Parts: sequence; structure tokens; C-alpha cells
Amino acid sequence: MSGPRRPLVAGNWKMNKTGVEAREYVARLRALLGDGELSCDVAVCPPATALEATARAASGSAVRVLAQAVHEAEKGAHTGEVSAGMIVGAGADGTLVGHSERRAAGETDDQVAARVRAALDAGLQVVVCVGESLEQREAGETERWLTGQVGAALAQVRADEVGVLSIAYEPIWAIGTGRTATPEIAQEACAHVRSVAAATLDPAALRVLYGGSVTPDNAAGLMAQPDIDGALVGGASLDAEAFAAIARAA
Ligand code: PEP
Repeated sequence: MSGPRRPLVAGNWKMNKTGVEAREYVARLRALLGDGELSCDVAVCPPATALEATARAASGSAVRVLAQAVHEAEKGAHTGEVSAGMIVGAGADGTLVGHSERRAAGETDDQVAARVRAALDAGLQVVVCVGESLEQREAGETERWLTGQVGAALAQVRADEVGVLSIAYEPIWAIGTGRTATPEIAQEACAHVRSVAAATLDPAALRVLYGGSVTPDNAAGLMAQPDIDGALVGGASLDAEAFAAIARAA
């Protein structure tokens, strides 16, 4: 990062793309982004099986590669899981932690905290995800919920790690639904996330991203908000053209 709060635009491919498809995508993305200085950091999050191919294809470029999830243990009997050391070994730069689709499958706040710690200890960058459900928002519980999730996620983080950790505010009702938060709603929640994180991390240096149905059409309006320092993009990141357009909007 070349200065405080340089935006980050990250594309979460979820369970999409083989290694071959990832290589083709990264070649296209590199061509679209060009060799010039970008005004934001750009990252893609391939599935674990394509991490190494993606990292090779991105080598020597500004494109960073993040895993979608990490386990807190170094190794052992954890079928299907991937450790921080394995992510490093695949040549990736970092990992998402606590995506709502992982939380829905059982990942707890305590696991998120331990996984953030394990990733940071391995030298990985971390994007930790938080966000409320529609029921929580409608019940007026959003701020209380985000306060709990952010506090738990940062429980084992040190102040000097602010440069390698970002928080993505991703309202569950906006993920994969086409229902984007308005810039005002996203701004209000991201400002709250920043204020809660300030107990641990310098709020002026912490990157807070918005995620949830970001597209080339709505990205600029969202990222123009004072507390939104980039985007975590799911569906629209599967297409290199659309993802490059979102990165250019940052
Ligand atoms: C996500 O999965 O993190 C996400 C934001 O998905 P989408 O952009 O498809 O809503």
C-alpha cells in the first residue's frame, strides 16, 4: 500500500474457475489494467485448487491473490481445509476470513478470530468480512451486530497490523441478490465498522470495503463515500471486463 487508505478492489470468485480458466482470466485482467500505475490495489480470490495457477499468472503484476478461507491450525485432521502455510506455499498474498457464506456453514466468531491470527502470523494479508442479515437490519440490530462481529474479529489483532488487514462490510441481504445497499446505507455501516475497529486499529489507516452486488454501474457511487475504501466483489468479478471496470471506478 502506497499511503494510507489506498482503495482495494477484490474479486471473490467463490466456487468458480479451474486453474486453466484462472490463468486465462488473469492474462485478460492484466491486459485490461495495463502496465501503468493503478489508483487502487487489485486482488482476486480464486478457489483453493486454482490458487497456485492464479498466483503464477499474476506474478510480476499488480494483481494480488487471496484465498477465500483459511483454517487456524498449522496442519492435521481437518479434511477439506487449507492452512495459512499452504496458502503461502501456493504463492498467494493473503486470504479472506469470515465470509458470510462460510459463517452460514458454521464458522464462528471465535474461529474467525483464530483464523485472522493464523493468517497474519503466516505473513498473509487479511480481508475479514462482517455483515448483518435482513432480519437484523429490519429489527434495528445492525450496529449492535456489527459491533460484536468487528470486536470478535479483531480480538487477536495488534495495532501495528493495520496495514495488512482490511474489513469488508457485506450485508448478507445484498450478497448475490442484486440488491445493493444504497451509498448512504453502506457509508453509515462502514463508518460504524471503522469506529468500532478504532479500539484496536488506527481508523485513519484502516481500509473498510463494501461488498454486496457491486457492479460497474454502482461501484463509483459506493466508493465515493468517505468511509468506503474499496469493494469486495462477487458475481461481477467473474467477468474480467466488469471487474476491471470496477477497479477503474475506485
Ligand atoms: C461476496 O460474495 O463477497 C459478494 C459481495 O458477492 P456479490 O458481489 O455477488 O453480491
